[in-house]
Amino acid sequence: EAAPATRSFEADVAKLLHLMVHSVYSDKDVFLRELISNAADACEKLRYEGLSNAALLGDGGQPRITVILDPDARQLTIEDNGIGMSEDELTDALGTIARSGTKAFMDRIAGAKDAEGSHLIGQFGVGFYSAFMVADRVEVTSRRAGTEAASIWSSDGLGTYTIQPATLADAPARGTRVLLHLKEDAASYTESFTIERTIKTQSGHVPVPIFLKDTPDAEPKQIADGAALWTKPKSEITAKEYKDFYRSAAGQFDEPALTLHYRAEGLHEYTVLAFIPENKPIDLFEPERAGRMKLYVRRVFITDEAQILPRYLRFVRGLVDSNDLPLNVSREMIQESPVLAAIQKGVSNRVLSELDKLSGTDADRYLNIWDNFGPVLKEGLYEDYARREALLGLARFKSTTSEGEWRSLTDYVAGLKENQTAIYYATGTDLDRLATSPQLEGFRARGIEVLLLSDQIDSFWVTAGVDYDGKPFKSVTQGLADLSLIPLVEGETPAAAASDAVSGFISFVKDALGDAVSDVRASDRLTTSAVCLVAPETGMDRQLEKLLAGAGR
Ligand code: ADP
Ligand code: MG
Repeated sequence: EAAPATRSFEADVAKLLHLMVHSVYSDKDVFLRELISNAADACEKLRYEGLSNAALLGDGGQPRITVILDPDARQLTIEDNGIGMSEDELTDALGTIARSGTKAFMDRIAGAKDAEGSHLIGQFGVGFYSAFMVADRVEVTSRRAGTEAASIWSSDGLGTYTIQPATLADAPARGTRVLLHLKEDAASYTESFTIERTIKTQSGHVPVPIFLKDTPDAEPKQIADGAALWTKPKSEITAKEYKDFYRSAAGQFDEPALTLHYRAEGLHEYTVLAFIPENKPIDLFEPERAGRMKLYVRRVFITDEAQILPRYLRFVRGLVDSNDLPLNVSREMIQESPVLAAIQKGVSNRVLSELDKLSGTDADRYLNIWDNFGPVLKEGLYEDYARREALLGLARFKSTTSEGEWRSLTDYVAGLKENQTAIYYATGTDLDRLATSPQLEGFRARGIEVLLLSDQIDSFWVTAGVDYDGKPFKSVTQGLADLSLIPLVEGETPAAAASDAVSGFISFVKDALGDAVSDVRASDRLTTSAVCLVAPETGMDRQLEKLLAGAGR
């Protein structure tokens, strides 16, 4: 027999493995959740591919996940009868970093100390490789559904792996077997009671039944029924069940800040189970970060690329299970379906209206969501014209008069000064510096609230012709702020009228600066500072100009 080929991991994987092997992260149980979630994914992929190619299913039986304990050998096995992997797929999937979340994780820990890395593992989980937190050797034997070949992948997590053909007799009839040689201090993962409890809490609601064998020869007993949580009536689901489901389905470790579970009836029937995380996911601002809503049709997983929600709701995790989409159409055709379009619209509107409702019923919880995801939601202000009203209603801002608190536009409009016709804002990168900008003096002297916009995205949406309640947004740095009609707060000194002396001075400054400026004017904007720079009325906002210059455009 030929010696197995030894291959090196991609550099990023090697780094990740080093972290896993040396992890001091205390909640190592998460490896089990990751491996079971992969097994469930594999069963769901097969269920989907089997729709158009029944031959793939063969006589491999109903989808199931089996966990086998071997205390004597200190081994733990997780086996599924899902789609399986060919040799090439094994190399791709387990020798490289495939998923974007893991890439983002790697970027984040680059340069971080091991202990910090461990902390991040706890927050985000990193898939298959977490097995090396508890195992000093992992063997993956897999047979791709519909093929007559099996392979075995093996690694100690120290930099290389081997891959070689396996005999069919040694491989599952279909699917994948992941065998962990547990480290000495991880022997408790062969205790039936521990494993059963862990699986029930972490993975009790995966949509594939789970069986447990206490020893290799024991009878398998079912410990999770594979019933899809979302099909149960709301009244029968506890908060803890929702939380556990969220954690296992979304790969998150926090609590959901908002849980949305409802059934749409009428023209289209579908069930929605969606969550807004309590914390910011690590890859929120990754350019390739797409939505994380899964599409099911009558409990069969179809795709997580249906873009059910617009990009600016990409922090929402969950699923939609449709009753009316045809099961046996390709993913591409589903994209074109008017049923999907109706679902997209319905779910997007519902998420926004639920957020609006929450802002009334639990302001603190809502503000926490805004704190985390406001910068993402604001992308919708220029990307989604149809929902701009709704988004402006959800938007919260810091301002010159809010003393660090969030203000809504309703609050702002309620505090408009006599003759004030615009919503004033200042953009910059730093809230504190913004707040002390000389541009604001004239506004302060009149008691006018100015919104302080310090997110990158703010420079973009404000140029999109946004108004609220009939009031345009106006930058304090842009053009003449026509403040003279708005009365000064008592005790403030009026700006000097443009007397002859001032006109003379202005001509002098114009001459001195020449082409460097397009105009020099006396302004109501200042009270104590002598000068400030503003952009012309029709020109680009100064903050946007800086941003674009920074981006090399
Ligand atoms: P993710 O599940 O987020 O893609 P993982 O690190 O958990 O990331 O797994 C990497 C890849 O390995 C998966 O995308 C899948 O292609 C493959 N894989 C892992 N476990 C299995 C399995 N039990 N059956 C089939 N493929 C698997
Ligand atoms: Mg996974």
